[in-house]
Parts: sequence; C-alpha cells; structure tokens
Amino acid sequence: MAGIYLHIPFCKQSCSYCDFHFSTSLKHKTDLIQALVKEIEGRKNQLTEQIETIYFGGGTPSLLGGDDLKLIIEALYTNYTVADKIEFTLECNPDDLSKEKLKELNSAGVNRLSIGVQSFNNEELNFFNRAHNASEAESSIKRSQDVGFENITIDLIYGSPVLTDEIWLDNLQKINDFNVPHLSAYGLTVEPKTKLAYQIEMGELPSLNDEKMVSQFKTLIQNTREFGLTQYEISNFGKEGFYSQHNSNYWKGVAYLGFGPSAHSYLDNKRFWNVSNNIKYIKALNENEVYFEEETIDEKTAFNEYILTRLRTIWGVEIDYIKVHFSAEINTHFKKEIQPYLNSSYLQQLNNKVVLTDEGILIADKITSDLFYV
Ligand code: SF4
Repeated sequence: MAGIYLHIPFCKQSCSYCDFHFSTSLKHKTDLIQALVKEIEGRKNQLTEQIETIYFGGGTPSLLGGDDLKLIIEALYTNYTVADKIEFTLECNPDDLSKEKLKELNSAGVNRLSIGVQSFNNEELNFFNRAHNASEAESSIKRSQDVGFENITIDLIYGSPVLTDEIWLDNLQKINDFNVPHLSAYGLTVEPKTKLAYQIEMGELPSLNDEKMVSQFKTLIQNTREFGLTQYEISNFGKEGFYSQHNSNYWKGVAYLGFGPSAHSYLDNKRFWNVSNNIKYIKALNENEVYFEEETIDEKTAFNEYILTRLRTIWGVEIDYIKVHFSAEINTHFKKEIQPYLNSSYLQQLNNKVVLTDEGILIADKITSDLFYV
C-alpha cells in the first residue's frame, strides 16, 4: 500500500496567510506539467507497491485544464501499479468549480473533492484575499453534490481577527446544512514573510488572540460532535467512511511519493524534498540534474515523528510499537515522560494505545514536545 502526492504550484492570487509554494503566473505551466510527467516516469522504480491513494494538492490543482490533468493521470497509470479502487482527491477552489469543470474532474477519476472554502463570510474572505466570495463557496458545494460527488471535504480557518464567535458558529453550521461529511479546520497561524505577518508587524492588525483561538477550537469540537463528525485527528473531522485515507496513511507511516516542486516523499526510512522553485525544478528535470534533497531518518527522528503524528490521532501511540521498534534507551525515556501524563487528565491508556483526552487535545503541542527524545 502506498500513496502519491502531486504538487500543482499555481494560484490565481496570494492569500494573505499562505506560505505554501506557488506562483500566480501561469507562464510556465506547460513546461512544468512536462517536467512533472518526466519526474513521474523517472521515479517509477522507486515505488513498486500498489498505489491506493492519489492526492493533487498545491497551490490550486483546480486551475489545471482537462488536458493537463489527463497527461498527468496517464503518466501515473502507465508507470505505477494503481489499485482498482482508490481514493483520488483533488484540492480545488470554489471559484473554479463550474458544472463543466466538475464533470471533467469526475470523468478523470477524481472521487474526493477538497474545497478550499476557509470561510462563508465575505468580510473574512476579503481579509484573507481569497479569490472567491461566500455565495461561490456555497454554490460550489451544492454543484459538486449535484454532479454526484459525495466524498467532499472543506477547509475552514478559525482565530482570525475578523472572525467573531457568531460568524464561526455560522461557518460551522454550513457543514451540517450542506451535509458535508468531512472538515479540515485550522487555527490561523502567522507564517514569516506573508502579508499577514507584515500587517501585524506594521501594527495594521493586532496579534492573534490565543484565548479566542482556544475558545473557537472548543466550539469547533463541540459542534462537529453534534453534527456526527468524529475528530479523528486534531484538525480533521469526518463521518464514518469519510476519513481521509491519504492523510491517515501519512500519520500511519505508509510510503508515498511526492511529485512537483516542493513535494515531499517518504519511503524506505528516507525523506526526500523537491526544490521549491518552479524554474529550477523545470530546468533540473530538463537537464537531468538533481532536483531534490534527501535524508535518512535516524532512530531519534523516527521516534519523535511517531509521537508527533500518532498522538494527534484517534489511533494514538501504540505502546507495543514503541517496545518493538525503538531502543531500550528510548523506551526508558518514553516510560519516564509519559507516566506523569497517564496519571493526569490529559492522556488515557486504552489497552495498548495512549490517546489524548478532551483536555489533552487543548495542550497537544506541549505534551508532544515533552515526549520528544532530544
Ligand atoms: S489558494 Fe491555497 S495555496 Fe494558493 S495562496 Fe491561497 S491558500 Fe495558498
């Protein structure tokens, strides 16, 4: 079992908070697709396991034309063993989702849409400099369902200076109103070199309010629970049968190949990351130069990554896994550090696994860093 991630590094405009790799110029799109196909072909011997999930992320993959998408998908099916039934996700922005586009995606094999809604409020969407408005956010969900997409996830952001508790409740209510089976909800973070960071630095905006962030996070947990969505990872909520298989596999340490500029891969205890620059990526692929860096994951990093990813999920940290996969020294460290938390109301042990409690979820980052082996 393995997964494939494709990074499509183009967007219509820059969202104020975003530090992902993307370009707002489509000038090199054709060259980049050709380079991407070359990378897909060139790495076919790296992954012989059956592919069960394909994920187009970005950037904005819904900017791809039907022919671009076709080229990439053909390259994947020609060079890798793809299972008959896969989870095929494509990230899209509401303003791209015309009926024709949705039909095109459907016939290309996409069976899960990840719609970058972020908010259903126009003031907040303007604040984020998103390319869509609230009514496009709503109509894109409805249209996707009308075309036959059942497996839909939307992204929402909480904690922004313009998000009042009332707007947040309204945003969450839409999940239920539209019967959306999956939600990814993220607390706004201020990433360096973004417009948001600049606005805060210049005093145009206040710093983010931690108390508001926690209170909106609590509202999120309570409301999604009432809507029948399970918080299977700190930022991910889904109905039974609609959890993201692709992301769950990341958290479970399943191998994946990532194609495109800035994409990461993980396999055979190694991590690879591609250059985060479209021109350099295209040039390197065209001239058969190296376009990625790699590192072998040592035991300490493997342990810390295991704690970091698993503690955030309902699958939790498995005690037997740690016993079998890590040295006596790391096991001694783990037992010593976890015991005070097991005696507290932040973690609970359910047979072989340790999971966060409702209280623990609120301080997950602190618990994780306390458990790290440094
Ligand atoms: S559309 Fe997505 S990737 Fe592009 S700038 Fe906005 S948040 Fe970033």
